Amino acid sequence: MPKRSASGRKRFDVAIAGGGLAGRTLALALAKLSPRGFRIALIDAEPAPSEKGEVEDARALALSAATKNLLSALDLWEKLAPSVQAIEAIEITDSALNAPLRPYFLGFDDELNQNGASAFMVEHGALSRVLAAAVEIEPAIDTHASDRVTGFTADQFAVAVSLGSGKGITASLLVAADGKRSPLRERAGIKCVGWSYPQIGIVTTVAHARPHHGKAVQHFLPSGPFAILPLTGNRSSIVWTEDAAEGAGLMAADEARFRDELTKRFGHRLGEIALAGPRQSFRLDMQIARAFIADRFALIGDAAHVVHPLAGQGLNIGMRDVAALAETVVEATRLGLDIGGAVVLERYQRWRRFDSAFSAAVMDGLNRLFSNENAPLRILRDLGLGLVDRAPAVKRFLVREAAGKSGTIPSLLTGERL
Ligand SMILES: Cc1cc2nc3c(=O)[nH]c(=O)nc-3n(C[C@H](O)[C@H](O)[C@H](O)COP(=O)(O)OP(=O)(O)OC[C@H]3O[C@@H](n4cnc5c(N)ncnc54)[C@H](O)[C@@H]3O)c2cc1C
Repeated sequence: MPKRSASGRKRFDVAIAGGGLAGRTLALALAKLSPRGFRIALIDAEPAPSEKGEVEDARALALSAATKNLLSALDLWEKLAPSVQAIEAIEITDSALNAPLRPYFLGFDDELNQNGASAFMVEHGALSRVLAAAVEIEPAIDTHASDRVTGFTADQFAVAVSLGSGKGITASLLVAADGKRSPLRERAGIKCVGWSYPQIGIVTTVAHARPHHGKAVQHFLPSGPFAILPLTGNRSSIVWTEDAAEGAGLMAADEARFRDELTKRFGHRLGEIALAGPRQSFRLDMQIARAFIADRFALIGDAAHVVHPLAGQGLNIGMRDVAALAETVVEATRLGLDIGGAVVLERYQRWRRFDSAFSAAVMDGLNRLFSNENAPLRILRDLGLGLVDRAPAVKRFLVREAAGKSGTIPSLLTGERL
């Protein structure tokens, strides 16, 4: 049972606003790994998953090997395993849609399999359900579903958090995991740098006649990348980046036209295809918060950074925040430090801000390099990636990047316990 503060509010160690994938994972990491019985409040504007009905996010997520390590440390990977498809090979091409053959200019095959797969596909709904079920049975987490954080004020000792339901709680630290529009970030007065892309991301699932053998394909087209990502069974997830106006037309198109346009891009190498899931579109932005912390306050996940989805890294970068913040807080607790104090939070910020900004810049650069028809640029990029294809050491480096294994990585992402 959480204690009560002098004001009669329930007292927690950490309050987390936002029960998306990042918020739930952080709640579980703190509950399971803290050296003394931490109390965590998890407040989410959405209803509890059991009350939400059947509507699911159409996205599937590429999870890096580092994210797999984090989920394994929390005993979640085993539960997720039946829904996971390993990516065994990646082909990248920018050939024209009407080309009779689609030669690829960069292939990852052996590099991915040297130390086990570097990336894994899982549907958003499957990951969300596994996290929700684990949160539900975790006694250290107090869940407030269908409620939202409406205000907070920090002082020397605690942060007082007000909820839309009229309830109030206090905590040593408030974490905003409330998504890219993050109302809490705004309330904390933290500005972002970034821009919106003139593109939208259309997501759907297809079933196909032939097996994909774990192969992912990234087809760079002038209007944006078209990705075919292997799911369990003879199914693939599509992430189709399209010019915003053209994309809106595709979202409004009837099923026959949508399927025809999809087939043109998908090609015929996996045989006959059929739509096997809803289509959903997402506005695409690049955004980095100018600060990741304020008084007794930290940002994680999309609230801290949003990247172009072309390399499937958004949540993986968010999971790096989760692991770094959990490690920072657990170490601070061991040392008897105030977990919401400036010294502790500045360590988290130093760890995560540069890495997130670097990843966002790389995704942005790739999108700019590939989403156009400029002929000299095309020759240069084909040459560049063709050279990379002949240099195994460079390819191994790129695979380590994608696997989340480069830079200073939190222990939880390497498979170690805290
Ligand atoms: C097309 C597309 C494809 C992608 N593919 C990949 C991929 O392959 N791999 C990958 O790693 N990433 C991918 N991403 C990125 C990934 O989906 C996001 O990074 C991730 O879902 C963000 O999770 P989050 O928990 O930070 O935020 P969200 O999922 O946005 O969760 C925020 C939560 O906060 C709640 N909330 C909001 N306001 C409040 C409040 N005031 N109080 C309490 N709660 C509040 C909301 O209800 C919500 O539940 C993709 C993104 C897109 C658009």
